[in-house]
Amino acid sequence: MTKNTCNFCGRSERDAGLLISGIGVNICANCVESAHKILEEEFKRQKEFKVDTAETPKPREIKAFLDQYVIGQDEAKKFLSVAVYNHYKRISQLTDDNDVEIEKSNIIMVGATGTGKTLLARTIAQKLHVPFTIVDATVLTEAGYVGEDIESILTRLLQAADYNVAAAEKGIVFIDEIDKIARKGDNPSITRDVSGEGVQQGLLKLLEGSVVLVPPQGGRKHPEQKMVEVNTKNILFICGGAFDGIEKRIASRLNTNVVGFRDKTSVTIDKSNIMQYISPQDLKAFGLIPEIIGRLPILTYLEPLDRNALKRILVEPKNSIIKQYQKLFGMDNVELSFDEEVIDYVVDKAIEYKLGARGLRSIVETIMIDVMFDIPSEHKDKLRIQLEYAKDKVEKASSKMIA
Ligand code: ADP
Repeated sequence: MTKNTCNFCGRSERDAGLLISGIGVNICANCVESAHKILEEEFKRQKEFKVDTAETPKPREIKAFLDQYVIGQDEAKKFLSVAVYNHYKRISQLTDDNDVEIEKSNIIMVGATGTGKTLLARTIAQKLHVPFTIVDATVLTEAGYVGEDIESILTRLLQAADYNVAAAEKGIVFIDEIDKIARKGDNPSITRDVSGEGVQQGLLKLLEGSVVLVPPQGGRKHPEQKMVEVNTKNILFICGGAFDGIEKRIASRLNTNVVGFRDKTSVTIDKSNIMQYISPQDLKAFGLIPEIIGRLPILTYLEPLDRNALKRILVEPKNSIIKQYQKLFGMDNVELSFDEEVIDYVVDKAIEYKLGARGLRSIVETIMIDVMFDIPSEHKDKLRIQLEYAKDKVEKASSKMIA
């Protein structure tokens, strides 16, 4: 060993400047600084995902937070709030020497598209201090097929956890469009088979809890990467799906039951919201394998959005579409207002186009595009959108679409 070199970067004392000596080794100031930075980063990362149960929001607080952004869906909100709260309790309990082990309760949310499943998941993520990711089940395929391997779900979670494996192992994953991996055989209405049962079997492994080898960079593009072991035992899975047509199955099941037990005590069925009667057997009939259903013990539903809900979505949430436009105009010192009739008109159009809540934004956008173009150059301080104006813009746009 040459006497005066840094044993970390190899530079000589002449190049490196000050060398600090230990027993038989030297380190230069530069390397000390780099090591310090690495440690700081690591501590910061560990702190970021440290779960402190004292700080864990209680179910009521979580729900109150969701209420600010998501209209209605009280049932789903309650289930989610409790599940997330219990998840925190479970992961903090793991550090104690406690012999009663609380099992995790993965969740499945069923509800038509555009009723707020993803919004709920995203909103809850803002409140969490654990890594969280949203994945789409439609891209998943069995190993060897084109598409993403099941393990890619964990790659995403690892990335969300900044590659802190211990944190990822306590994370939460939202799997969207879970209905799209239903078994084709039982479900002739689905024409596209994303490979159904094989993917469900793969997913089952994750839900049950197992040690999975995960490619940290994801995909098959980096075959040389070193795999990382991730244990899924304590990862909470929340699944969501529209399960198109499932209401018919529920209704026919209820009908059979009602006929079977026709007596005065039989409850009247609220036909306007059949989804509330969903049960695990309906998921099975739709083509989810029983093992998967068994691993998703909490089943909840989202209500269809009626006219009143759509109207509230437009104006009430903390970042409602109307509030967003008002803020945009406010930045140009323009006070923007919408007549009540305009709001009703937008809701009517969204219903007419069968676009649900998803359609609200594009309709408002159609109404606003011209004023957004002109107003910044016009030095106005107030702008009121009236029904005639709104109608004119929407009708012109839809005639263009037809033409
Ligand atoms: P899903 O995941 O159920 O298909 P999304 O959560 O993606 O539906 O909803 C689409 C959009 O519609 C959201 O971004 C949001 O703007 C709006 N939206 C849907 N449902 C609600 C709701 N209950 N409250 C507020 N906004 C909603």
